[in-house]
Amino acid sequence: MLIANHNSQVPEDRDALEALPGVGRKTANVVLNIAFGHPTIAVDTHLFRIGNRTGLAPGKTPLEVEKGLEKRTPEKWRRHAHHWLILHGRYVCKARKPDCPACVVRELCGFKGKETA
Ligand code: SF4
Repeated sequence: MLIANHNSQVPEDRDALEALPGVGRKTANVVLNIAFGHPTIAVDTHLFRIGNRTGLAPGKTPLEVEKGLEKRTPEKWRRHAHHWLILHGRYVCKARKPDCPACVVRELCGFKGKETA
């Protein structure tokens, strides 16, 4: 499809990206962010968990969390917020056992279990 429809170029357009096989909203957000510098926030499993666990951007779907994170993240930080949150989720706010005692945003976090985690 890239060759046939896009002159062998990756399109800088969400709808065109999502029309490609295997590309959903998350991947389109990653491509728009990394390849084209758009301030998108791709919600993967880490961002979805952090958004809900901390209360930063609660939502039942990745799209709800994405919209919440966009709203809460100042524009100047938005372009890289996705990476910072992924790293936070991978190394500190881990799925099974968040490392709350070592967490630098502990004071700001709304997770009820943070005192005992
Ligand atoms: S205090 Fe715990 S739950 Fe809250 S962000 Fe930090 S690691 Fe995650």
